[in-house]
Amino acid sequence: MRKPIIVGNWKMNKTNTEAIAFVSAIEEVLHDQADFGIGVPFVALKDAQATSKNLIIASQNVHFEDSGAYTGEISVAMLKDINVNYAIVGHSERREMFNETDEAVNKKIKQLTVNGLHAIACCGETLEQFEAGDTEKVVRAQVSGMLADLSADVVSELVIAYEPIWAIGTGKSATMEIAQDTCAIVRDQVKVLYGDDVAAKVRVQYGGSVKPDNIAAYMSQEDIDGALIGGASLEVASFTEIVNAVK
Ligand code: 13P
Repeated sequence: MRKPIIVGNWKMNKTNTEAIAFVSAIEEVLHDQADFGIGVPFVALKDAQATSKNLIIASQNVHFEDSGAYTGEISVAMLKDINVNYAIVGHSERREMFNETDEAVNKKIKQLTVNGLHAIACCGETLEQFEAGDTEKVVRAQVSGMLADLSADVVSELVIAYEPIWAIGTGKSATMEIAQDTCAIVRDQVKVLYGDDVAAKVRVQYGGSVKPDNIAAYMSQEDIDGALIGGASLEVASFTEIVNAVK
């Protein structure tokens, strides 16, 4: 049985002070029927982690090298030092705006997992690719690229988020059918690469305009084990509704 995992992604929102207040409020409503987390901005990671008890605090990015001349980047050692042990990698906004490739995501997953941290690796097609009927081709290629040369143990522990880019922040969520079918394709590609056992263990999230009123329907789909949530994770009230909806 895969434990559901619901993760908010704040993107470039919230100050450190706001993050501390949010984390202490949301701790009060968490339950153990799912793992819950938030991807917080770099400068709020330390205090958010220190404030959290059960909420997973995730970085929204990490570099694949140990250290060096990479202005503006942060390393796995920096995350480890403040007890942050999750990072989101390959988000479509980082792919589109910061040239993050499947190869870079693959290196980041390796760097995280070799150091005992967890990765939430994102994939998803553009509107153009969706309209051209290329979703399956694109997503299979992304999954293969991100998961190249990993061990079965590492892939079993991975969280893969399928986020169709046309559904992010647009209010246009994917239909249950599209979300389920594409998450099933993600899982099938893991099966092609690493076999049945690993595919049965890997957790696949759907992301893109997930809200309190649609999360339960997504979560009821066979291959959807959780959600990656932008806008609806920004307010304690809406994230609380989401937490309660997956009880
Ligand atoms: P929205 O939930 O705001 O569509 O964002 C989805 C997302 O990009 C989460 O990583």
